[in-house]
Amino acid sequence: MSGGQSGLGERLALVRERIERACGRCGRDPAEITLVAVSKTFPAADVETAYGLGLGDFGENRVQEGAAKAIELSEAGMHPQWHLIGHLQTNKAGLAVRHFGVVHSVDSERVLAAISKHAGRDNPTRIFIEVNVAGEATKSGIRPDEVMELAGHARSAEGVILQGLMTVAPHAGAEAARPIFRELRRLAGGAGVGQLSMGMSEDFDVAIEEGATHLRIGRAIFGGRA
Ligand SMILES: *Cc1c(COP(=O)(O)O)cnc(C)c1O
Repeated sequence: MSGGQSGLGERLALVRERIERACGRCGRDPAEITLVAVSKTFPAADVETAYGLGLGDFGENRVQEGAAKAIELSEAGMHPQWHLIGHLQTNKAGLAVRHFGVVHSVDSERVLAAISKHAGRDNPTRIFIEVNVAGEATKSGIRPDEVMELAGHARSAEGVILQGLMTVAPHAGAEAARPIFRELRRLAGGAGVGQLSMGMSEDFDVAIEEGATHLRIGRAIFGGRA
């Protein structure tokens, strides 16, 4: 796989084709799916190229790295939506809410409270609750049986808008991810939330079939990470 800007247009075209084909298989409209281009580890110049190709949503897993790129793009007159997709340390919540309009990785009451404290009522942060559906020891996210309670807290918290649930499936191939995605959808139904942030480079086709509303795609767009 080649990194850098050279193949970005071609890779993005392939990703869009895969999205359209998956939508075709299950009768969904591609317009109802938000493509979050995961730019972690890639330089701001690559993000600017992607922005020029029509991408308006970017995902970063580290607050400082994302904030630096957000500032650089903003100074160049580009204002995409930034999505935080990695674990948030509460001492960085202020910086996070300043630059990220959406946080996909709310995984505790402490993190929820920190976002709520820093986000203003006039400028609320949209959030997803991250669920460790497969129960992998190495992954962050709450347990499935904790979803209802944290969702309840999120609904009554000021400065946040609960959008839905997020998960990262085990790296075991797209079909192995299907039951994980299906379970996230079931949990979202139970908690009364409508959005599903699921699906990465390897498994987003299946995620679309299982109802994903937000895809988080890095390598398939930007190329291999070092
Ligand atoms: C890196 C990352 C992605 C994107 O992964 P790719 O395999 O590059 O598509 C998606 N979600 C999270 C939480 C990530 O950390």
